[in-house]
Amino acid sequence: MARSRYATSERLFTAASRILSGGVNSPVRAFKSVGATPIFIERGRGARIEDADGNRYIDYVMSWGPLIHGHAPRGLVRELSRAAARGTSFGAPTEMETRLAQRVAMLMPSMERVRFVSSGTEAAMSAVRVARAATNRDRIIKFEGCYHGHADAFLVQAGSGAMTLGVPTSPGVPAAAAANTLLARYNDLASIEPVIEQHRGTIAAIIVEPIAGNMGVIPPREGFLEGLRAICDREGIVLIFDEVISGFRVSTGGAQKVLGVTPDLTVLGKIIGGGLPVGAYGGRAKLMELVAPAGPVYQAGTLSGNPLAMTAGLWSLENLSARLYRHLARLAATLAAGLADAARDAGVPIQVNAFGSLLTPFFTERPVRDFQSALSADTGRYAAFHREMLARGIYLPPSQFEAWMLSGAHTTRHVQLTLRAARAALQEMTI
Ligand code: PMP
Repeated sequence: MARSRYATSERLFTAASRILSGGVNSPVRAFKSVGATPIFIERGRGARIEDADGNRYIDYVMSWGPLIHGHAPRGLVRELSRAAARGTSFGAPTEMETRLAQRVAMLMPSMERVRFVSSGTEAAMSAVRVARAATNRDRIIKFEGCYHGHADAFLVQAGSGAMTLGVPTSPGVPAAAAANTLLARYNDLASIEPVIEQHRGTIAAIIVEPIAGNMGVIPPREGFLEGLRAICDREGIVLIFDEVISGFRVSTGGAQKVLGVTPDLTVLGKIIGGGLPVGAYGGRAKLMELVAPAGPVYQAGTLSGNPLAMTAGLWSLENLSARLYRHLARLAATLAAGLADAARDAGVPIQVNAFGSLLTPFFTERPVRDFQSALSADTGRYAAFHREMLARGIYLPPSQFEAWMLSGAHTTRHVQLTLRAARAALQEMTI
């Protein structure tokens, strides 16, 4: 039998599975929803990664979003080695934290005060705590298919890995922890009013991905975010934008800048850490002054504001430019149009949703505007497409319900190669 082109990865996954739960440290990486064995990555440079068998791929996962400047940009690697030589962690203040916070506030003026944490999960969890303390209310509203990390309160009809695994609410989440999470439908303002009506005066926050990315990319309908803002103002509810994906990806100032709706609190992650573990939450000074030690709301972290993480974040944000976003939008538009054409020629139904450099091709005939329509996508077909693309050197998110990510290191040439592979893959697919 011919040696599999993934033989080393297969061996490494077998070893990993004996010691790491499920062989991975985050579920979607296990490639379960595309029915394959994950490839193990050796190195990355620019838009490309290389696996343990020496296969090379054009990467559209980009570590799930942080790598807007591509893998291992030289400037960042230089800054990181200098920072590491000075010491990797102090658990004491360093100037880099202030500099990164100032940069965040400059790019996103609604962030009057900032607190750094180590993941998006922590940031979302802490923002909700602040909202609850500020309003003295317990309930929150989230939207079906939106993902805000794995804290108990958010694992109710959550997107991302929780969606592909078909786990609506994870076992281990106490009913009491989920009971304060109320659900509404993304892009459907009318679905919110009855919830408010029934629980008036007890809702602390509405949390939303302003551009949904975790049920695949679904941009907000016109008026949806404005409507949320109006409801929150009317009802004294804190509006939280989870911009872990969209922040610094769709513009220098995130979704709130391009869409012109300002939240009370913002949750950030991914690009703000430039590939190192960073999350942040922040917003109106009056709210953020509630956080300890300025106020009574407790939240802390041994590695929060870690000097290497701050260095990577600052480098990443300092290198954002209008030119970069124009480049990303152009590439994404070419990719989206090319995928739609290739699918049409192959007779495969597809809907490509895109916003800036975020895109998801859904294998369905129906326009995808919410969680229900996203679920109409044929995940088996996506799985087949994924495997065919992998074999052709294109590394896609191993799930239908994720956003493809581009970076400044991707070029027109990469996109052309990807579209050529997609044409062949779509023709080849047997389902
Ligand atoms: N919010 C959103 C919108 C996300 O996409 C994610 C992760 N993909 C999170 C929160 C959680 O972030 P982390 O994985 O860093 O905990």
